[in-house]
Amino acid sequence: MRHTPAMESAVLAFVSDHQGPVGARAVAQHLRKHGFDVSESTVSRLLSDLDERALTQSLGRKGRILTEEGSRVAANQQLDRRRESYFADALILRDVHDLLDHLAGRRGIEREAARAAALRARPEEVTRLRAMVESDPAARWRERLAFHKTIGDASHNKQIQAITTTLFDERLDPLERLLIMIGIKQDALLRWDREHRDIVAAISDRDADGAERLMVVHLDGMIHETEQFANSGNAHVIHTLLAEIDLA
Ligand SMILES: [Zn+2]
Repeated sequence: MRHTPAMESAVLAFVSDHQGPVGARAVAQHLRKHGFDVSESTVSRLLSDLDERALTQSLGRKGRILTEEGSRVAANQQLDRRRESYFADALILRDVHDLLDHLAGRRGIEREAARAAALRARPEEVTRLRAMVESDPAARWRERLAFHKTIGDASHNKQIQAITTTLFDERLDPLERLLIMIGIKQDALLRWDREHRDIVAAISDRDADGAERLMVVHLDGMIHETEQFANSGNAHVIHTLLAEIDLA
């Protein structure tokens, strides 16, 4: 059996956390305890592979320690895992409070996305945005979050893109249905559509201040509508729909 990158990082983390050298048997026990079904030979191949790549160093019968490079790789992997778990947790919306935080986070980042898009969007991206807001109403229903995602991409700012990619993760697509329902109940859908058109007009006029301001107005409105909807006895509706969003 071949060892996997997941096994490899589990071993690096284990050796890194361990005081002193670690023997092959302890590594095998650790992997099995964490659900990896490994044979002795898989473990010994994995360890010699790490030796060859100068991530671990064998101290003979005492076991192995991490090299300087091995420690660096283990530390980076830990940072990656921590970041992944922050992002994974941010995608789990449980209640009205989480949903409002999500929208407020979007307001903070999307105002900058809209500003940058006005300055940096390529002509074909402006054309695509225009097509999105001019399409017939039935098609527009599916394009609300895609519209916002496209503005994030068109910012051509990789800091913004890294965050918007998470905010508009496909796993949050069902959230669109919830927001549309709130829009319908609060009688806000037509206004939201008009705001989308205004944002595109500002981006296509290369009006950065205008695009930013209009995006803030748009998200402020959505936050307000969500609060109103929740406060008029519908918090449970939001909670039920959020619970149906499967993030597995
Ligand atoms: Zn919108």
